[in-house]
Amino acid sequence: MVLSACGGSSQTDNETINEDNTTTVQSTFNPDNFHVGALLQTPTTESCTLSGGTVTTCYRVTIPGEPVTNEIGPFCPPTIYSDASEGGIWFDGSGEVYDIDGEFILNLDTLYGSDWQLYDPDTGLVNVTDTQAACEGAARPNVAEEYQNHCVECSLSYLESAVEQTYLIPVEPVALANPNSIGGDNLGITLNGVVLAPPAPVSAILAANTIAAFDDCGGHINPFEGYHYHASTGCTETLLQSDNHASLLGYALDGYGIYGMRNLAGEEDYDLDECRGHSDESRGYHYHSASAGENMFIGCFHGEQGSLVH
Ligand SMILES: [Zn+2]
Ligand SMILES: [Zn+2]
Repeated sequence: MVLSACGGSSQTDNETINEDNTTTVQSTFNPDNFHVGALLQTPTTESCTLSGGTVTTCYRVTIPGEPVTNEIGPFCPPTIYSDASEGGIWFDGSGEVYDIDGEFILNLDTLYGSDWQLYDPDTGLVNVTDTQAACEGAARPNVAEEYQNHCVECSLSYLESAVEQTYLIPVEPVALANPNSIGGDNLGITLNGVVLAPPAPVSAILAANTIAAFDDCGGHINPFEGYHYHASTGCTETLLQSDNHASLLGYALDGYGIYGMRNLAGEEDYDLDECRGHSDESRGYHYHSASAGENMFIGCFHGEQGSLVH
């Protein structure tokens, strides 16, 4: 990379070199931004058709499906005496983020109703779905009665196949005149190798008197799809920016970058559109994640999406 002669900024593929010789990474997909191990092979490019029918060039990106930066879990606390370090978090979209410690389990009847009891009052042990049958019986619509009133957690060992996933993501995003809704499919990937899921179906989960526990990073294991994130809680916002802007956490399937909610001074942006995106000179269009308590990352897709390959 070469600085321009006037000492101003010069443009390379994905970076702007600023006057103070720091770099600002632009929001379009850049394989170099991922953590070591988060891309299972060096992304190649190929022709692809985006969700709106545009034929363009996409990166073929394969992620491991589990975080390369930290361990998964814990999810459910073993007893009603457990502290917050023994469990993860819970959010139901109301804005609150709860630590799942023993006290949270003990007080669920106050929060959600008198028919809630996720523990054995004689032993203090929490009802946890600690077998494959229990996990699969609870992590689905129409939860069988025997798995209601359980804290739900699953293991990646229950999955029949590897959890790696391959996506086609546009090299150059194609903006939409009207944004696309998020829908029910995964909406992006993180720099540490995990998929970003659509909002967790908390109404169905709560209707079965279950808590589908998330770990402190906002992820959990679905026995059919693997590990995925439902919220950004700080674990994933890893690529610092040179200008105090929020850190990059990953990319949406339309190729635009998703950054943390707050900048390095702890402030939010208030000029976001309905998709939670805006533009600036360094990054072009990009998103800012919602708070974990909102049970979402972005509000809609600003651009035509790439696709899941397998
Ligand atoms: Zn989920
Ligand atoms: Zn921004």
